[in-house]
Amino acid sequence: MVKYDIAVVGGGPAGLSAAHIAARSGAKVILFEKDGAIAQNIRTSGVTWIDEIEKLGIHREYYNPINKYSFLSPSNEVTIGGPVASSCVLNVRGTYQYLASLAAESGAELMIKSKVTNVKVNLENRIAGLKVSTPKGDLTVDCNLVIDASGFSSSVARRLGIVSEWKRYGIGAEYECYCENIDNETWVLLVGQMYSNAGYGWIFPLSKNRARIGIGVGRPESNMDPLQRLHFIMEKKLKPLDKMGKIQPLELHYGFIPNEGLRRSTVSDGLILVGDSAGQSNPLVLEGIRYAIEFGRLAGEIGAKSLSYNSDRESLLDYERICKSKMESKIKSALRVQYRWLHLSDEEWDREIEILKDLSYNDFLDFIKANFSTINIMRLALNHPRLAARELFNIVLKH
Ligand SMILES: Cc1cc2nc3c(=O)[nH]c(=O)nc-3n(C[C@H](O)[C@H](O)[C@H](O)COP(=O)(O)OP(=O)(O)OC[C@H]3O[C@@H](n4cnc5c(N)ncnc54)[C@H](O)[C@@H]3O)c2cc1C
Repeated sequence: MVKYDIAVVGGGPAGLSAAHIAARSGAKVILFEKDGAIAQNIRTSGVTWIDEIEKLGIHREYYNPINKYSFLSPSNEVTIGGPVASSCVLNVRGTYQYLASLAAESGAELMIKSKVTNVKVNLENRIAGLKVSTPKGDLTVDCNLVIDASGFSSSVARRLGIVSEWKRYGIGAEYECYCENIDNETWVLLVGQMYSNAGYGWIFPLSKNRARIGIGVGRPESNMDPLQRLHFIMEKKLKPLDKMGKIQPLELHYGFIPNEGLRRSTVSDGLILVGDSAGQSNPLVLEGIRYAIEFGRLAGEIGAKSLSYNSDRESLLDYERICKSKMESKIKSALRVQYRWLHLSDEEWDREIEILKDLSYNDFLDFIKANFSTINIMRLALNHPRLAARELFNIVLKH
């Protein structure tokens, strides 16, 4: 039996960031990651925004900058570009390993190949520790606070019966590939039934001859297997793969992402949910890494402070309040657009691309980042000449 202040479940961006800041704030912290290495199994495409990720201390050595964005539908396409790169594709393994070294440096203990298998509760039915299967044998850890950063599975909170399985979610399969010809400054979204009947495909370049090529699909809208569809697209060399020369897969990535918005409750006595476990992602482009880092750090900070108050729910409520105020309304708007996008036919996608063609570079970026400030979207809704465009922006504005 070992005693810690804080036990973190999951060595993804949320858990590593929480462990880093909690340990730096003076807490005795342990983190468990079930895989054999940090970022051994990559479950993400790693696209994010340069200004946001730089603010979080992830610098140029960890990403490939992007300054052009293409949407390709069966009979239409648009490329929107700007003078300065605003998004990027992360070296995911490098970034997560960097976050892990920050956590280790600040004093957190990291245990890899260690799966949390059960929770320990006290007489008041409050979480009091974890049972973990480790390479050194089974371990029971007592702690004041557990940070559930286990990703899609929300494994601790589900075991406690606090949350249930996600009902709406996305599944993605991608190959990181050697590609003979790619434009390494442009990412491409592939929309329409031939790519995904409820989702989209993507090509995200990492470097001169390397890109992540993938397919995502939404459940319950579709039962399609994204990996099978990806194989089909690669074998048939559907456009734009037909122009990319030799494509050689080097690594398979596969993952699940929640698609319902924030969990109604993300704290309880002795427990914080963070990252995908809490539903903290932008559902429009399935983007969650920067939120996982930002809110992971917040969970670490507020979690460490809460130790003086026995980490009771009241002492953790600031965490929930700040996360909600930063993203809840944006997520709700993004979900409405996503719902529309999941149901578009090929012809409707062709028309949707016409709307995107009329957006300025900055308006496009705000839109795709789910940066839905009311004034911004009202301006677009009121001033846009096309009726279809006004409909799109009105969807975002609805409450
Ligand atoms: C196909 C796909 C593409 C995506 N593309 C992007 C993108 O381009 N940009 C972007 O920003 N986001 C993207 N996302 C979302 C992004 O990956 C997540 O939002 C982000 O990874 C959330 O981080 P996290 O730390 O909460 O969870 P995760 O990264 O899932 O980490 C959770 C960790 O917990 C570990 N774990 C789980 N259960 C246990 C247990 N019982 N014991 C010990 N360890 C456990 C897991 O092994 C894992 O390492 C994508 C997601 C998918 C599925």
